[in-house]
Amino acid sequence: KLATNTTEFKSAKHILKNVFGFEQFRSTQQDIINSVLQQRNTLAIMPTGGGKSLCYQIPAMVFDGLTIVISPLISLMQDQVRQLVELDIPAVVLNSALTTDVYQDNIASLKDGKVKLLFLAPETALQPSILGLLQSINVPFIAIDEAHCISEWGHEFRPEYRQLDRLVSCFPDAVTIALTATATPRVRDDIKRQLNITDDSEYIASFDRPNLYLEVAPKESAYAQTRAFIQKHQKQSGIVYCQSRSGVDELTAKLKQDGYSVLPYHAGLNSQKRATNQEKFVRDDADIIVATIAFGMGINKPDVRYVVHYDLPKNIESYYQQIGRAGRDGQDADCLLLFGYGDTGKIRFFIDQMNNEHEKRLATMHLNEMLALAETEDCRRVPLLQYFGESEVSETCVKCDNCLNDDKQKSDLTVAAQKFLSCVHRTGQRFGAGHIVDVLRGSNAEKVLQNQHNLLSTYDIGHELNKKQWMTLSRQLIQKKLLQQDEQFGGLKLTQLATDVLKGKVPFYAMLQQATPEKRQRASTS
Ligand code: ADP
Ligand code: ZN
Repeated sequence: KLATNTTEFKSAKHILKNVFGFEQFRSTQQDIINSVLQQRNTLAIMPTGGGKSLCYQIPAMVFDGLTIVISPLISLMQDQVRQLVELDIPAVVLNSALTTDVYQDNIASLKDGKVKLLFLAPETALQPSILGLLQSINVPFIAIDEAHCISEWGHEFRPEYRQLDRLVSCFPDAVTIALTATATPRVRDDIKRQLNITDDSEYIASFDRPNLYLEVAPKESAYAQTRAFIQKHQKQSGIVYCQSRSGVDELTAKLKQDGYSVLPYHAGLNSQKRATNQEKFVRDDADIIVATIAFGMGINKPDVRYVVHYDLPKNIESYYQQIGRAGRDGQDADCLLLFGYGDTGKIRFFIDQMNNEHEKRLATMHLNEMLALAETEDCRRVPLLQYFGESEVSETCVKCDNCLNDDKQKSDLTVAAQKFLSCVHRTGQRFGAGHIVDVLRGSNAEKVLQNQHNLLSTYDIGHELNKKQWMTLSRQLIQKKLLQQDEQFGGLKLTQLATDVLKGKVPFYAMLQQATPEKRQRASTS
């Protein structure tokens, strides 16, 4: 750990309190700011809402001179500048959307050395005239926001970001920070390589959001369930996510009819309408926004008190992003996911339409991870954080349905698990769950007969569970790391943990949904 009693750090703490009005750094913020103040190029990975901004704003105020902040979106930059100016921190932006007057004013204050933070898109920063101006000013610090844009492995690659190494090399004495909420190892490595950051200057904050209560309920009568939930949050701001535009329109109409203050948001509305609805929600002119995944990018509303998933998200990444829009002020917020197998079928249908086999397999795997979260009887945070590579989950979670109700019916499924695992073993550890279930249930499917799996001792021994229950069990076996799924071919392999269960050393408990009320559900949602 770095010393936290340097004069720089004392002054950082002072700024935190006196300029931003916060008592304490969040733990990773402290490490990150320390690292920067000690002149080490630093990579900061924090979930959305984790507090990335302070990680560059505070060092910017500690250092003498101008800090350059690179950001990909004009709207994000303008937001940041507005917030800083409200705090009396001299910050400006330079971009082509400014009027000539404002642009010239900003240039003049930069030349006068009056500005502490300058926000730029990468292509603006590299314009010769701007670069020339910046090189005539003292620039001790460069912050690169949304740094995943630098990597082709990221989901938002921007070619302009590729040239940032050139910008950085123009300021050999400046320290650099890269910030992002995307943490896959490949993207991280890419950022570090391109920006000259060493492994020991990489800081990854926990992705846990302890103030979010996570609940999954079987989708029985979705509308009634949603209404009952919203009723508990009267006059509070909330988002309800639906899978389709028509779903959004229908649900908005029903809620409106029932007297709620509600607006729709999806890509089928024109941009004017979308902007107005978003603005009204942010300003509390409407309590509820019913939306597709199109809603939420870059909105900063701190007091969203709940998020409902009316339909199943297609992977944990989306689920996490969407629930992450609740409780950004740190106060408690409530997240409800309505989970029905009908939705799974719809997502699978979309996946089946994909052309690329590799993408298909990845999408299926990601859907299965989402299902494992929805089906688990463990703490919901375990599969959620595992997805982000966090293996240690605090044992003190009291903010999920499973940790709160011990009376959820877990059953001892050791024997069924042993049957499944042993069938994986006997079929050579290269088949997916569907095939294993076929063998266990004595199917005459072509693939079973062709491989002569009807001759195995595990053939036709699994009638205590139906096909759906076996599939649920298989996802729990993967989630609990008894099985590993091949990313490329989808085949299941046993792990050491599986051996322990097979030998009877360790029991296996899980929760299987009983007969699901899908017919009723479809009737009530259509
Ligand atoms: P990010 O950019 O990582 O999404 P922000 O920088 O916008 O997150 O911060 C999210 C919220 O957390 C903001 O409202 C911010 O004021 C608040 N915040 C950040 N750091 C602290 C802190 N140390 N103490 C209290 N609130 C904080
Ligand atoms: Zn929990």
